[in-house]
Amino acid sequence: MITTTALDPQTGSVFGQMQAMEHENLVFCQDGPTGLKAIIAVHNTNLGPALGGCRIWHYDNEAAAVTDALRLSRGMTYKNSIAGLNLGGGKAVIISEQGQVRDEAFFRRFGRFVNDLGGKYITAEDVGISTNEIAIITQETKHVSGKPESMGGGGDPSPITAYTVYLGMKASAKKVWGTDSLAGKRVAVQGVGHVGQNLLGYLQKEGAVLFVSDYYQERAEAIGAQFGATVVGLDEIYDLEIDIYAPCALGATLNDDTIARLHCSVIAGAANNQLKDEVRHGYMLKDRGIVYAPDFLINCGGVINVYHEIHGYNRANVMTDVERIYDYTYKILTLAEQDGISTHEAAMNLARHRVMTGTPIGL
Ligand code: NAD
Repeated sequence: MITTTALDPQTGSVFGQMQAMEHENLVFCQDGPTGLKAIIAVHNTNLGPALGGCRIWHYDNEAAAVTDALRLSRGMTYKNSIAGLNLGGGKAVIISEQGQVRDEAFFRRFGRFVNDLGGKYITAEDVGISTNEIAIITQETKHVSGKPESMGGGGDPSPITAYTVYLGMKASAKKVWGTDSLAGKRVAVQGVGHVGQNLLGYLQKEGAVLFVSDYYQERAEAIGAQFGATVVGLDEIYDLEIDIYAPCALGATLNDDTIARLHCSVIAGAANNQLKDEVRHGYMLKDRGIVYAPDFLINCGGVINVYHEIHGYNRANVMTDVERIYDYTYKILTLAEQDGISTHEAAMNLARHRVMTGTPIGL
């Protein structure tokens, strides 16, 4: 069931939402024998084929799945653009249902749907998909990235994502404190999954004072013990007296409620779509004097890793490419300051300009 009002309250239509968000294609895929229901959204291909992972998620209704695919694919356009990649933005979602058997046939069928698009969309990992499933999808299409290292791929992209988040955090620290050392800085990492754990490794080495929270209490306790971090409650994290807040769990954690409560100078984390409202909350952070490192800029390590696979994977080349995130972050924070705009807007302006003109980011 798609309730059109849930899709776009203004126009009441799928096309209305695609128009408002400027999408090229929205493809619905269903297969009876395997029970697969997938949605592939292609946002923009000005810079190249649309690359973005495939997410498996349980949605309250189909409208929510459509909205997620549209929102995430749009985000990929700007992430790929600001990362300087010759890629457009796309994303796939597979609707998770009770009793669904997600076996080899299921993922091979998804691979054939991706293949039908003839390379306009390149898939990869996202929530619910690992390199194991990617290896299966590879049997049906060459338009797939994020392959295991044993297949010549770059493997799990999370460590590289954590590294660019770390670089973005250091550049933000330099902006605020004049030095990028994180020694003694009080840092709260929200969500200690793949990226959060790798980030903690960098922070521990620098001598930061660490706090962690996770939806799974046992995971928080185990990871907290491993990295010498204090475990805090899911909601308590917003009230801590800290220097840096690193959202590495879910989106929309920067909202009316939390921004008023946060006691920190820097926000730098991996989660996608951290600002509940890109414009209003970006400016609320600016008004509170909190330096926000734009999420889609500093979490682009994973997609850079995946991009390199398309041209023959070489880890040294990946690392050379990701190192520039430090300078980019520092320069974008400076630009925002000079122009009196939010850091998110400064990053979006650059990303949009490259999408529209095809010219380099120019930082
Ligand atoms: P993950 O699923 O491995 O880890 C997320 C962790 O957050 C889990 O341990 C989960 O229990 C925890 N969590 C969920 N809700 C929480 C809450 N309310 N409070 C505290 N913890 C909570 O995911 P990941 O791969 O580490 O990615 C983390 C975030 O970064 C996600 O938003 C993801 O979309 C984004 N991201 C990841 C990559 C990557 O390369 N993995 C790249 C770009 C962006």
